[in-house]
Amino acid sequence: MEKKNIDWANLGFSYIETDKRYVSNFKDGVWDEGGLTSDSNVVINECACVLQYAQTCFEGLKAYTTEDGRIVMFRPDLNAQRMANTAKRLEMAVFPEERFLDAVHQTVEANAAYVPPYGSGATLYVRPYLFGSNAVIGVNPADEYQFRVFTTPVGPYFKGGAKPITIRVCDFDRAAPHGTGHVKAGLNYAMSLHAIVDAHNQGYDENMYLDAATRTKVEETGGANFIFITKDQKVVTPKSETILPSITRRSLMYVAEKYLGLEVEEREVPFDEVKEFAECGLCGTAAVISPVGKVVDHGKEICFPSGMDDMGPVTKKLYDTLTGIQMGHIEAPEGWIHEVCQPR
Ligand SMILES: *Cc1c(COP(=O)(O)O)cnc(C)c1O
Repeated sequence: MEKKNIDWANLGFSYIETDKRYVSNFKDGVWDEGGLTSDSNVVINECACVLQYAQTCFEGLKAYTTEDGRIVMFRPDLNAQRMANTAKRLEMAVFPEERFLDAVHQTVEANAAYVPPYGSGATLYVRPYLFGSNAVIGVNPADEYQFRVFTTPVGPYFKGGAKPITIRVCDFDRAAPHGTGHVKAGLNYAMSLHAIVDAHNQGYDENMYLDAATRTKVEETGGANFIFITKDQKVVTPKSETILPSITRRSLMYVAEKYLGLEVEEREVPFDEVKEFAECGLCGTAAVISPVGKVVDHGKEICFPSGMDDMGPVTKKLYDTLTGIQMGHIEAPEGWIHEVCQPR
């Protein structure tokens, strides 16, 4: 299989069309058999539920090449499970988890020529999504759905090293108690766009959201969970019913405890405690961990001792261990790495 002629190291994070995508339709109470297509356009009715009432959800994961040349994905079964949970919360037809796995495997295999080579730092981003596709004018769930998976090659998240970012405490809320903060619904992103554009305009990289009910506890950013390192090297992550359960964060907590022998705590994190931490990072599929150097709370700066030049030492160890597991340098826990068949 010949790789596409792409300058992998200089790819950014933007959509590049690849050859194939997976489509399956739900109608009359059943999913059709689904399959790959070359058509990258979605044609739906003007009154489709997704267009009127935002009945849509998504997942994001990466396929990449290990040192020994295998194409693999990291824990796609957890994406399948999470999308099923999201679909239930949005009253959507659930795409069966084993079919989700088959669909991402088929799509990556069909676009193997776009999976960046080992060592480039680039990956093939995989985007499964599901939406209500038939016309709905009264406020009701759709009764027809489309599930799709496309891929797009993306560049290394950190070009020339991971530089710590500056975030602000946000005056907008991300998720209401008993709302949809714990599911990967498109609507959570629609309403975060204003907050992130505003943050960027004010010179910040990201928003730190506090809990909407009391505005005293740390939640997450628009698209990543927090981990904090205490001065005595404990790894702390916020526990809340309204944050999205990041697969990267769950994997990092496991690695911290089982591989690095660190103490881990998933618990409420009062914002007042943030100034006591030694290190801070944002966890998500895209960056694995993005180090935070500074949090600004309405003009008051909290500067972590790890500084603005490098990842903190414990964060770095976590990052190196998890990326080592992903790349195949460090033995992975059973079931974490899923190999994709490679076409010849
Ligand atoms: C997707 C997402 C994350 C990161 O989850 P991963 O599974 O690690 O990629 C974190 N927070 C929010 C709000 C998200 O939508």
